[in-house]
Amino acid sequence: MNEAQEVELATGTKARVKLLRLDETRDPLRDAVRQARVHIELNGQSLVLTSATYHLPVTFAGVQVDCPITKGHVGNSSQGNAWGLLKDARLRFWPSGSAWIEPGTFGYPLKQRWFASHTQMANEPSFVDGGEVPNEKRIYYHYGLDSGGAEGMAEVVAAADGRVISWGTNILAGYDDSPAKPRYDVVYLLDDRGWFYRYSHLQTIDPAVRLGSPIHLGQKIGLLGKEGGSGGWSHLHFDITSRQPSGLWGIQEGYAFLWEAYLNQYLPKLIAVARPHHFAYTGEKVVFDGSKSWSASGRVTRYDWTFTDGTKASGPTVERTYAQSGEYSEILKVTDARGEVDYDFAIVLVIDKSASDQLPPTIHPAYAPTLNIRAGDPVTFKVRSFGTTFGNETWDFGDGSEKVTVKSDGNVEQHAKDGYAVTQHRFAKPGHYLVRVERINERGQRAIGHLHVPVEASRAAGPTK
Ligand SMILES: [Zn+2]
Repeated sequence: MNEAQEVELATGTKARVKLLRLDETRDPLRDAVRQARVHIELNGQSLVLTSATYHLPVTFAGVQVDCPITKGHVGNSSQGNAWGLLKDARLRFWPSGSAWIEPGTFGYPLKQRWFASHTQMANEPSFVDGGEVPNEKRIYYHYGLDSGGAEGMAEVVAAADGRVISWGTNILAGYDDSPAKPRYDVVYLLDDRGWFYRYSHLQTIDPAVRLGSPIHLGQKIGLLGKEGGSGGWSHLHFDITSRQPSGLWGIQEGYAFLWEAYLNQYLPKLIAVARPHHFAYTGEKVVFDGSKSWSASGRVTRYDWTFTDGTKASGPTVERTYAQSGEYSEILKVTDARGEVDYDFAIVLVIDKSASDQLPPTIHPAYAPTLNIRAGDPVTFKVRSFGTTFGNETWDFGDGSEKVTVKSDGNVEQHAKDGYAVTQHRFAKPGHYLVRVERINERGQRAIGHLHVPVEASRAAGPTK
């Protein structure tokens, strides 16, 4: 705080920055930092930046800047100082107009559509497996990037050219004192920048991934799974560790790199962003924010929210409160000037203020494939609930078809091979489908999940392959 520094950018130009103030907003349930804002002076002008939590670098006063981590997170972290942060905040700078990572050196690590399932990213307290509970005061601020997906179906690929330092329980000689911590479901790669990349919870590791092997950007690492310390939900945990200015190893926040790589490789027209999730008591105000949504055409023109109780609202930010505990998934629809639409879901975990030990269940839905689905194609849907073994999951595919009931195991044994309940569905017509799945426990508390499934027209009539 109050420290000023001169920063030399990659282009050789200089920026002058001073940290003026840090505001960290904590929730009343766990005292977790939910939003951190830094006030800085940058080249003589004032700027307020929101740290991480799905925020991207911003252009200001001739440079680009972001704030990947602030001190309050380190104080009650269950994972120690994963960021290697010793000061009040970390700031990163790029020249104005430059890419966030050197073009051609970084790729999206998963063959999957953006936000196709739940995520835990950029210091968001981890929640999908039901681990976000009021009486747990050490917070797992998720320092890496968790992307949910269908177990054994989503392909994990290398984000950069590199070399295999560790796969499974094997580690290359000379790397015992490095960020690589071998585990049966984990692969570590090291790139030319000196960055260590961790890929965790893999169901299978590709046979080409062997100690010391060179690996190319985009090369298959394995299949997404729920192995190791996954909490029982199937996802890729991807993180990058590098030497930080403090001299310590620490997390190199990668959300912006993933975002940039995804835009370059998959050319989306529009991305709705309703994340991170919310954690609130009944009766407490929840503020929804869709303003991080993005359009290739330059501007999102509409933000439409549809809530679980059927009420609607519009605008980038809206507020509401909940009378009943549960896990809700609120729908954000964004529209841009060209009439393109996209959807995302804001998950809200609501705890009963008068019975905060009666926790609602949570739910994780996923599907595959997520890209280039055509009308009539089979799509696999997987779901697992957490915190209850009562009842069933009910799917509503949003196309007028009959509801389908399945039963997952309630995560009693997190590595159970058949933990997810599996069903298949075909959409007869093209469109954007909002698929809903829910499970209710014996107390009537509900966990609701949504998936957005874009379906294209079937392959044109004519010669079939
Ligand atoms: Zn993770």
